Amino acid sequence: MKNHGRASVHEFLGDFIVYRNLVPMDGRLPPLRRIWEAAAVAQGVIPRKSEPAYARVIAHLLREARQLGDAPGALQRLVYVGDTRLNDGTAFANLCSAGGWPGLAFIAAERDGPQQLEFVPVTTAGGEAATMCLSNRWAALAGFDHYCRERGFAIGPDTAVIVDLDKTAVGARGRNDQVIDRARVEAVRRTVGGLLGTGFDQEGFQRAYDLLNQPDFHPFTADNQDYLAYVCLILGSGLYGLDPLVRRIEAGEMGSFRQFIEEVDSRRSGLSLDLRAIHQDIVERVRAGDPTPFKAFRYNEYQTTVERMGCLDDGAAAEDMLQDEIVITQEVRAMALAWREQGALLFGLSDKPDEASIPSTELAAQGYQPIHRTETHAVGE
Ligand SMILES: [Mg+2]
Repeated sequence: MKNHGRASVHEFLGDFIVYRNLVPMDGRLPPLRRIWEAAAVAQGVIPRKSEPAYARVIAHLLREARQLGDAPGALQRLVYVGDTRLNDGTAFANLCSAGGWPGLAFIAAERDGPQQLEFVPVTTAGGEAATMCLSNRWAALAGFDHYCRERGFAIGPDTAVIVDLDKTAVGARGRNDQVIDRARVEAVRRTVGGLLGTGFDQEGFQRAYDLLNQPDFHPFTADNQDYLAYVCLILGSGLYGLDPLVRRIEAGEMGSFRQFIEEVDSRRSGLSLDLRAIHQDIVERVRAGDPTPFKAFRYNEYQTTVERMGCLDDGAAAEDMLQDEIVITQEVRAMALAWREQGALLFGLSDKPDEASIPSTELAAQGYQPIHRTETHAVGE
């Protein structure tokens, strides 16, 4: 591994990127609320990455983005680079269908063992030809490019290249993703600790977080970090104990987060005034269907994330950077720059909530930038 110097995702994607709210960072592209109709998405709904509606929104944005570039014209094919077979694979298949494009996807997660490149045909709703290339090396991206060329799948002006942001362009899965996770846990800890003040029990918090973050508890937490942070806050307040709560979850008496927060609501007189106010804000957002209702946590997540970007000295060892910094995946950066040079349209997708990705007005005034414009080191083979 080698440090390739400082860079930002903006270097290869520009502002052609959407975070979870599907509002493109490039102001020339329409925000989601202006394309609900054109993309056949129900008004007021923000589709999630694995849903066909999400793909219709992105296909619409890709076509609009293509008209803004130096080579306006029709898009004919799709390339997708990501890190998660199920989630990215589904988004890829849906995008091929939404655009009517044949596609090739590269999905990687760094693992030991000899380098593998496995090709898996993907079924698309519209019957578009689509193949997913799975690898245990990010460095195999160059081999994927070679494969595209051999197949006559030319990556040029009529190609849209989707680059996943989280754990792909930054924090490569299997190599550097644990730093992203650490930033998130630190954000939960800072939020809960800040709200509980001197009564905060660091060890108890860690025990609750580590246990309830397990897949066994996903039916209860919906694998939602905002929900988990809220549960840790309520446990920390002493209104509930971890062991009795776990027993009720395991016995099937506490089936969902919604049930939990409504029960807390009925007992809210047991919370301090400050926590009652926070609870009130969150429960209202949950009832309104906001999937990221714990705003204070997400603002802290933005901070704990950018604190870990570019934080080490330029002379630090690449291995240390992979351990302690959220870095750009050099292989993705190099290939994206090459494809852009060939005329392809590059576009970034991030599933991170906008509050965790874009600075508040006050922070922006201090010079803070969105995640994709924040400099860090590029590390790779
Ligand atoms: Mg990802």
